[in-house]
Amino acid sequence: MTQQQAQASYDAQDLWQKDKNHFIHPFTDFSLFHEKGCDLITNSDGIYVEDVHGNRFIDGIAGLWCVNVGHGRAEIGQAMAEQATRMAYFSTFNNLSNAPATELAAKLAELAPAHLNHVFYSCGGSTANDATIRLVHYYFNRLGKPSKKRILSRTNAYHGTTYMAASLTGIASNNWQFDTLDLVTHLSEANCYRRPEGMSKAEYCDHLVDELEQTIERLGADNIAAFIAEPIMGAGGVLVAPQGYHSRVQAICRANDILFIADEVVTGFGRLGHFFASEAVFETQPDIINVAKGLSSGYAPLGATLISDALYEVLSTPQGPGGVLSTGFTYSGHPVSCAAALKNIEIIEREGICENVLEVGPYLESQLKTLASHETVGDVRGSHFMMAIENVANKTTKELLPVDARVGDRVAAEAQKRGLIIRPVGHLNIISPPLIWTRQVVDEVVAILNDAFAATTRSLKTDGYL
Ligand code: PMP
Repeated sequence: MTQQQAQASYDAQDLWQKDKNHFIHPFTDFSLFHEKGCDLITNSDGIYVEDVHGNRFIDGIAGLWCVNVGHGRAEIGQAMAEQATRMAYFSTFNNLSNAPATELAAKLAELAPAHLNHVFYSCGGSTANDATIRLVHYYFNRLGKPSKKRILSRTNAYHGTTYMAASLTGIASNNWQFDTLDLVTHLSEANCYRRPEGMSKAEYCDHLVDELEQTIERLGADNIAAFIAEPIMGAGGVLVAPQGYHSRVQAICRANDILFIADEVVTGFGRLGHFFASEAVFETQPDIINVAKGLSSGYAPLGATLISDALYEVLSTPQGPGGVLSTGFTYSGHPVSCAAALKNIEIIEREGICENVLEVGPYLESQLKTLASHETVGDVRGSHFMMAIENVANKTTKELLPVDARVGDRVAAEAQKRGLIIRPVGHLNIISPPLIWTRQVVDEVVAILNDAFAATTRSLKTDGYL
């Protein structure tokens, strides 16, 4: 910790009580919250975070898949402070602009696949996806194809939490007792671990592609605007699609005049070893790529929609007198967020952070796979710095443990006791670290996880779940 951080002490009890009384936490289980309240994380440094009581943890989730360059980067703080004092905010509507937003748009165009040269800013991943669907509808309206409205997404996809983004999302529990918009059709997710019995991965890919073709046939291509997918499904379970899936889907979309949108909110900015995974890893050329999270490494809220030249041509065609592109946020191109993103990208390039992921990522994968020796570990999957462990009751049948066993929570709690924060999602545990982990850190983490899984197995047995 820096000296300044060490000096800033908090009244832990007072904060805990205020939080309990007033803060409605997102995605929170109130049965646990009412009982325990919050864990206050107050300090951070590199790969570590520290709670209000001074306990230090290895951050195994990069905040929330976002602190890609690690915590406590003074130079990002400085860039933000300089921008905030020079000019914290001014509109980007109409013909107004600011220097960091302009520089960042040009930088993103340089880093992105060659045909993506135009940037529409938002405040995070949900708003990037939401704005994208509005722009896609507007695009087809302007082309004189107003019936093209339906969006194809997938079960277990996560695209955010605004009304439209939540409707794109296909995780049933996320939308439990919430409503969604009837603009989305969900196809099956690509889940190799739980693919139909006896099917090879290649046959499974054919099966998923057939489903897409049949869905287009049923709904009519004239009614479908776009297909949206995360290159690797994240919150839905870190699901890696079978080889060739994305490029085959894109080819079908193109043949049917359906736009292909890559949600790279998690996979972008180095998590898979490249600034953008779509082209470099999955051999696709999306019409639109959405980014957030790692774009600013979470130092400030920011999202961006990267738009192809072909789309931009239509969006930017003058509408005639009085016509404007009537969409955008007060904080589109926020100068302080864009200054943070520019410095963040400079660090990623200067320190070779993508190269670190390409080097350490396969080691992380191989070491995590050794955890499969534990009785409850059914699957260890993912790629590079985007990994998940699926817990099961029975490895042969892949049967899950009862929900009330809270196995993901148990593993996460055991890891946290031993100094590591990982994320529980139902029966899964997600590991999505800052991209600066070294092999030594991986060894330390895997040793902790070995103990955490052993302790979890013991406690599941004691409680009669195994
Ligand atoms: N898309 C993906 C793939 C995500 O993982 C997330 C957030 N986890 C979002 C969109 C939504 O981003 P935000 O929370 O910044 O709105």
